[in-house]
Amino acid sequence: MAVLRIRTLPDPVLRQKAKKVANIDGSIQKLIDDMIDTMRAVHGVGLAAPQIGMSLRIAVIEIPEGQVITLINPKIIKRQGERVVEEGCLSVPGYYGEIKRSKVVKVKAQDRRGKEIRLEGEELLAQVLEHETDHLNGSVFVDHIESQDKLWKVTPQGNQTLEHQII
Ligand code: ZN
Repeated sequence: MAVLRIRTLPDPVLRQKAKKVANIDGSIQKLIDDMIDTMRAVHGVGLAAPQIGMSLRIAVIEIPEGQVITLINPKIIKRQGERVVEEGCLSVPGYYGEIKRSKVVKVKAQDRRGKEIRLEGEELLAQVLEHETDHLNGSVFVDHIESQDKLWKVTPQGNQTLEHQII
């Protein structure tokens, strides 16, 4: 188990379309454990493999009061509604922005044992599901910013981790 370095923009790995995981072997299990350790160390609510430099379709999620969710090869199969959220990203440190996300998101994926699962999330979980699948497609939240005044810099003394979730 290890805490890995978070890649930040403009690291090109964040802009690649991540590769499908074909074989969930021991190295993938270790990677998932390291991703969970890393997500917790930086107080994130989600982490996608490209954020630690691995261009693979894997994401881990842990929202407050929730259990750890591991998604391998996730695919969004339903989006419903729209809401405006304030969002930040571990790979875009110091910035927050206002963007639109779906209210309800349903994904199909494999869990870490390779079993096919379906997961539906609302509110924060829906937001994280979209945020992580974006990462796997080489997209980050700033791509959804509609105008520059919707993106702002957070001062280091700002209490951002209490007010916002970072993903
Ligand atoms: Zn992110």
